[in-house]
Amino acid sequence: MKQTVLGNTGLRIMPLVFGTLPLGPLQAGLSPAEGGRLIRHALDRGVNMVDTAELYSTYPYIREALKGYGGVVHIATKTHAADAATARAHVELALRELSRERLDIVHLHGARLADPFTERGEVLAELVRMKGEGKIGHVGLSSHYISAIGKAAAFPEVEVIHPLINRTGMGILDGTAAEMTEAVAACARAGKGVYAMKALAGGNLIGSARQSLRFVLEVAGVHGVAVGMLSTAEIEANLSLFNDEALDEAAWEGLEKGRRRLKIMENFCKGCGLCVAACTADALRLSDGRARVAEDACILCGYCAAACPEFIIRVV
Ligand code: SF4
Ligand code: SF4
Repeated sequence: MKQTVLGNTGLRIMPLVFGTLPLGPLQAGLSPAEGGRLIRHALDRGVNMVDTAELYSTYPYIREALKGYGGVVHIATKTHAADAATARAHVELALRELSRERLDIVHLHGARLADPFTERGEVLAELVRMKGEGKIGHVGLSSHYISAIGKAAAFPEVEVIHPLINRTGMGILDGTAAEMTEAVAACARAGKGVYAMKALAGGNLIGSARQSLRFVLEVAGVHGVAVGMLSTAEIEANLSLFNDEALDEAAWEGLEKGRRRLKIMENFCKGCGLCVAACTADALRLSDGRARVAEDACILCGYCAAACPEFIIRVV
């Protein structure tokens, strides 16, 4: 099983990182038992890092997966807190929910922040403090912004970055895939661990999944890619691709025909617009008092679902 070292963190990871967002209530809404079974299958097959976030509500799935598991699993989570006290509460909650004394990586969940170093400086400082207390192994930054990833290269406190990058640049908020590639390379040269997100642009590049995943795996400095997987067939197909093994072409062709989409239960929409404000991809509009999505712009990030007080947005 292929492994790589995540920059100066020294963590040895399998480059296929299990992204848990699609399992949870913001997307497929699997039960913790079913989602946990999928994570466990991946762990049994060599995956050793799981990506989650306070916002994803997937800690019960990971807890389920780890029941009786004796292997090493690196857990990366994220806090979207705007202040130090909330960030601390998020970390403490993750520790409790995951029954851990230390989280391997905690990111400042900075997807929509052009400059998290000034806008959420106190959160970053609190994460560093909690690292000093032994509750966090490594502090990270997840972002959809080239400017934020570029700036991270100069901040020694940030040891891991989790950038949005894909073949077409879809979802990058301030430039192109080529520019994000440069920012990622600068971080890698500075010793950061790098694992990417949205290699398939939230499913929009599913039709060219093999090509799109290979593109991100070949970006200079990328150590791993978080991929959301909803079936054992997807896990097996990705394992073959990430391990440079012979691919089951028929299985891949079947997977590449799949397409997920955002579903808004419009009849229950109150027209509050909170989802529109949460969308960084400019994919939502209010029309006749109801939220509507432009599917060709949506990267299925799930932020609108998390923002909706009516809980009527799903990825299906
Ligand atoms: S519509 Fe929702 S899921 Fe799609 S990009 Fe916008 S916030 Fe993300
Ligand atoms: S946040 Fe929910 S209720 Fe408000 S406009 Fe969006 S879909 Fe409708």
